[in-house]
Amino acid sequence: MKILIVHAHHEPKSFCSALRLRAKEQLEKDGHEVILSDLHALNFDPVSDRRNFTTVKDATYLKQQQEEMYASDAHGFAADLEAEIKKLEECDALIFSFPLWWFGMPAILKGWCDRVLAMGRIYGGGKFFENGLGEGKRRAMLIATTGGGANAYDGWGLNPPLDELLKPIQHGIFWFNGFQPLEPFIAYSASRIGDSEREKYLTALTERMAHFTKEVPLIMPLLADYPNWGPDNKGRFQIVVSRIAEIDDKYKSLIQAEADTIKKLKREGVLTDFQMSALEDPDWRAFFKMRGSDKDEIQKHLEQFPLASYLKFEITKLTHSF
Ligand code: FAD
Repeated sequence: MKILIVHAHHEPKSFCSALRLRAKEQLEKDGHEVILSDLHALNFDPVSDRRNFTTVKDATYLKQQQEEMYASDAHGFAADLEAEIKKLEECDALIFSFPLWWFGMPAILKGWCDRVLAMGRIYGGGKFFENGLGEGKRRAMLIATTGGGANAYDGWGLNPPLDELLKPIQHGIFWFNGFQPLEPFIAYSASRIGDSEREKYLTALTERMAHFTKEVPLIMPLLADYPNWGPDNKGRFQIVVSRIAEIDDKYKSLIQAEADTIKKLKREGVLTDFQMSALEDPDWRAFFKMRGSDKDEIQKHLEQFPLASYLKFEITKLTHSF
């Protein structure tokens, strides 16, 4: 596989750069060809303007996407852009590595996206999502370091959940352009943890990279489910779950399998929200939000739960508008 790593850290001795290096080493060890765009080493210019182009479609008004379409036909991209666009077109997989800055990516990487992901060459004219580059079959992963700890980003912390913060990249950049995102690799509190914890992150990344080509990507919404970019073909359902039998040893033995099923359905984009009260609460309830065609389909998903025989499911179809 040919894998493009776009790296955005200004310090080659940083932990983020060490992760990037480890990823490259493991991928090469497994026989992959790794192309590196180290944006600071390249002195990459992140500012998007007329300098993107050697051609001009309209000299009186700069409309970037129009100029990109024109440059795509007329070979009119500036040399630095053309080099990056070619790397992207030719790769089978894409990796971004960066420190989390202001809940997002550093400006130099955002600028790479703004300039390199050009309408015409990379997306547009029906080339998006599952119809995007490589028919949506290429894969992408992000490797990021953070200042904040995992608790701050787990959905109950001070900050928004990290998977929400990463959607502009996972969905808006990777998936929009036809790259199926994998689970992100996050090294939390990279500067504040000790060497041994950093070593654990390096080991975990080595293992992830060793399975990079086999890992099942996250299931993303298909354009086919949203005809003409309209509303979802599928419905949304609220499920209130209550217990109809006492907790016994069998129940306890199935809890891990239950958690795995929740994780699987989340990954598949079926379970879009999940909350529950404490296990020992006598009025225990769980609340699911699920995506599916109809109640029968939802019922079938619910029957997959190992604890289903202990539970009662009340399914309500939600409305899109009122
Ligand atoms: P470094 O400080 O470079 O590295 C940490 C330590 O690892 C260093 O001591 C280094 O020597 C050591 N190291 C290097 N290589 C190795 C190795 N091979 N093995 C073991 N140790 C090694 N954080 C947030 O959570 N949210 C934000 O929104 C946010 N916004 C920010 C905005 C800006 C502009 C800046 C500058 C920071 C922001 N941060 C934020 C913090 C930032 O995310 C972290 O500082 C960064 O991710 C830490 O990673 P690093 O690689 O830069 O760490």
